[in-house]
Amino acid sequence: MDFTKRMGLPFIICAPSGTGKTTLIQKLCQEFPFSFSISCTTRAPRVGEIDGKDYYFLTKEQFEEKKDNGDFAEWACVHDNYYGTPLKPLQEQLDAGHDLLFDIDVQGAAQLSLSLPNAQFIFIHPPSLQVLEERLVNRCTDTPETIAKRLKNAHAEINASHWFDAWIVNNDLNEAYDALRSFYISCTLSPRLHKNLISTLLSQ
Ligand code: 5GP
Repeated sequence: MDFTKRMGLPFIICAPSGTGKTTLIQKLCQEFPFSFSISCTTRAPRVGEIDGKDYYFLTKEQFEEKKDNGDFAEWACVHDNYYGTPLKPLQEQLDAGHDLLFDIDVQGAAQLSLSLPNAQFIFIHPPSLQVLEERLVNRCTDTPETIAKRLKNAHAEINASHWFDAWIVNNDLNEAYDALRSFYISCTLSPRLHKNLISTLLSQ
């Protein structure tokens, strides 16, 4: 038996829009062999997004049917659209010992904290709300109304982030990434993920 084999780690990253979360997640997936939890959403695909890779794009009716069937590990309404994490792939990936990366909002993370005891929750903070606003304006993808809504959500999410396992302030991307990868590596050492190690070692 391979006693180095461990359980998969659910690694859940939350951050307000414009904090650099997507870039940090991409870097983490390039360096480590994560599986990524592909969410379902009712929002329209953005340019370049691929169904089944970035999201599963569903109608509101399709989403509600899945929700009522209990097909989601968590779901939430974010910026007026529904988002949910499919339950079956999540269980399959973790059972297979794969570390699973989630990009979800704070409401969804709070739900997963009740059902995934081994999960680690990371919140990425902006250096300030002013910098966040500048980043949202400079990326030129949102209307002023959407930016105002995202800033209001950012305020609420930051205010609700006290229970997370780790906070990272993304002032400098390289420093933020170093902190994130170091935290991930330390999480993989948790005895909770290596449940069989002691019994296997001592029975040899
Ligand atoms: P976007 O539409 O910009 O891709 O995502 C908007 C927000 O929805 C982000 O904060 C993202 O983390 C969150 N989100 C994406 N997928 C899920 C999900 O499956 N569940 C929850 N609760 N939030 C999600």
